[in-house]
Amino acid sequence: MSRQFAIISVIACVITQAAITAGGPTQVERGTALLWNNDHPIAYKIDKGPLGKIDEAKARTFVEEAMNTWAQVTTTRLQLTPSQLGEDIKTATRYLTVAGDASVGSIVVLDNVGDIIKGLYGEGQEVNILGFASPRLSGAHVTRFVALMNGFVSDDHAMVRSTMVHEFGHALGLDHTQINSGLAKNGDPSDDEFIPTMFPTSGDDDSTLMNLNPDDVAWISKLYPNDQFSKAYGTIRGKLIRKDKTPVLGANVVAIALLKGREDSMMRFSCVSDYLMTSDGAFEIVVTPGSYKLFAEPILHGFAGGSSVGPYAASLREASFKNRIKLTRFPSSISVKAGEVTDVGTLIAQ
Ligand SMILES: [Zn+2]
Repeated sequence: MSRQFAIISVIACVITQAAITAGGPTQVERGTALLWNNDHPIAYKIDKGPLGKIDEAKARTFVEEAMNTWAQVTTTRLQLTPSQLGEDIKTATRYLTVAGDASVGSIVVLDNVGDIIKGLYGEGQEVNILGFASPRLSGAHVTRFVALMNGFVSDDHAMVRSTMVHEFGHALGLDHTQINSGLAKNGDPSDDEFIPTMFPTSGDDDSTLMNLNPDDVAWISKLYPNDQFSKAYGTIRGKLIRKDKTPVLGANVVAIALLKGREDSMMRFSCVSDYLMTSDGAFEIVVTPGSYKLFAEPILHGFAGGSSVGPYAASLREASFKNRIKLTRFPSSISVKAGEVTDVGTLIAQ
């Protein structure tokens, strides 16, 4: 079993277990992404105590650095205010009480040796679950998150820090991406730099997830743009349908940058079709200016439940896994300019 970066959503009507390619927002209501109200800073508290072999001060630094990885993106506007929680949460029972108490606000729980994970998910799961984050809604906004980091794996600082950056991406409203999935477990750690931070599961070398990839940066910027965003990004917009003209719900659409005519491994951006659940197969891919080629692919079977990619992958019974499309490459080269939308119209998947 591969280790998971799980996101547990409590919003059963939206995405029951998880999340899209940082290709999008993690929670949507028909036509709208549910995000933080960015007019206010996002205040969060960090649980007391160590994280396994990482002492309290260092764990706190790791948490703040991981959060800042997102806030420091130059095309985004996020204000984060950390503080310390007045206790060390040690048991699953206490965790559930605190997680269920909205008055506590947003919390990052440091599960010292994995006891809370064991209590929540069962003996042995402390080896598999690295951490999770759950954004909580009130009305049309995320108003709180509950994140937990597993100290059982604290020997590996790079793993801990990568997990934090990934989970805090969820806390801020990002979903998963399956960009470059063929490289994640191919036995070659040297190509894992091409795996985005919001990839759902572990790869050959997870230390690279600490650094955001172009898809991660594009999506956090689209969700929380600052005034630099429109100068740095353009948009590819379209709809993915089948030959019978029905919309494709929950397939992955990827834009690959063409650099000197060649497909670039790093500059890849994605969006799940019908990502806002508008029932028309619509996708919007935010990209840096340049030339692109598009392809569409099914969501991988492994990316359901806690590793789900997109709003139609909470279970294998959902639309992403029914009548799956075949890999479809669209031959036209697409030109995108900053601040502009390139509408590719309707694309027909095989
Ligand atoms: Zn995740």
